[in-house]
Amino acid sequence: MRTVIARRGLMGFPSEPQENPQAVWEEALTDDDGGRRTLYLHIPFCRSRCSFCPFYFGPATDSERAGYVRLLAKELNDWAERLSQYPINAVYFGGGTPSDLAPQEMELLLGILRNRYPLANDCEITLESRLNGLSDRKIDTAIANGVNRFSLGVQTFDTELRRRLGRVSDRETVLETLGRLTARNQASVAVDLLYGLPGQTPEQLLADLETLLSSGVSGLSFYRLNVHPSSVLADRIAAGTMPPVPPEETIYRLYELAEERLDAAGAKRLSFKHFSFDPRERNLSNETSAWKVPCLPFGLNAGGRLGAYQFKQTGDPESYRSSVEVGKKPLERAGKLPPDHPVAFRLAGQLNSRMTVDPGFTAATAPPELAKAVRRVLCEQLSELEREGLTAATAYGSWQLTRMGRFRCYPVGSRLMEAVAKCWEKESE
Ligand code: SF4
Repeated sequence: MRTVIARRGLMGFPSEPQENPQAVWEEALTDDDGGRRTLYLHIPFCRSRCSFCPFYFGPATDSERAGYVRLLAKELNDWAERLSQYPINAVYFGGGTPSDLAPQEMELLLGILRNRYPLANDCEITLESRLNGLSDRKIDTAIANGVNRFSLGVQTFDTELRRRLGRVSDRETVLETLGRLTARNQASVAVDLLYGLPGQTPEQLLADLETLLSSGVSGLSFYRLNVHPSSVLADRIAAGTMPPVPPEETIYRLYELAEERLDAAGAKRLSFKHFSFDPRERNLSNETSAWKVPCLPFGLNAGGRLGAYQFKQTGDPESYRSSVEVGKKPLERAGKLPPDHPVAFRLAGQLNSRMTVDPGFTAATAPPELAKAVRRVLCEQLSELEREGLTAATAYGSWQLTRMGRFRCYPVGSRLMEAVAKCWEKESE
């Protein structure tokens, strides 16, 4: 059997493929420890393609979408009893474009979740949405059926930059839609903004932040644009029909500017990339996922995690249909996580949501015979990162990320995790 070589990091983790994903899923269900968990539903379709997106699946006709929702509803119903034991803290409808579901389709899926799944009393239910096509009827149906958070991919309010990204709505439509959502006073409204866009200037970013701060939304997810080599955007930049992304120093300056402006506005930090403007925005789904808690996957291409395994559902519509129709979990892959994963996951949670690392707290998840070595390696690495200006020691034995450390949180995370994993390699030598 081949071990997948992937770098440990905040977004991904290596795992050893297992021969029978179905059997592994069953085994993981019986090993379930009943801690915090999330449930992820994937709606793959998008009516148009954003130029930066490498995951575009294509549009769906009404009947294709209805057929998919029927299967997704069956998958949820089939597994409801087996997953009824422990509360679910957060549900995330991701995509794709979940807000493209018809109102009756939202009602169906949310009804199954509410009636058959043990949603925690304070369960956060997020609907990832596009601005385009988000009608009043859809908003009201989502809210009436339990959605208490909308996550909107605004990316930028600047109409010209939006058009470069392939976004359909202009600034006025974006603000009008956000206004309709916030006026209901029924759900957290969180938006995504990107920085490092092709040709983006500090003035444009500051203008975006001013608009955001006066828009009445509850939260912000602030992401750096990654130009994926297989995206339309990469092709356009290469062909010279689109300005290049700014140089690294300018991108850092954009991040710095945003932190300064958001600090000045009194925004509360939820993680190195999430901010809250009022108590309604908890970002529970991302917050709990940051600690790599179990995530129950549903739908085409959905990924999840349970016990010592990570799972990936099939991305092939025909395999999805044939598995779901006979009541099988439509898994394409089950991978066994390496033994260092509890330590790495605790590191991921601290870096993401606390922007700090406490070596003693982290090492407590290692087996007793390795705890000392893990703590020592972490202290060494964090001291080295301090010399590079990425962390700063506190008086209490922990290290906080500096602004540069927050900007470079992903490579910092990988470096710490890879260094810690060596403790297990030495052990097995
Ligand atoms: S809406 Fe999301 S998934 Fe769809 S094309 Fe745009 S970025 Fe990609």
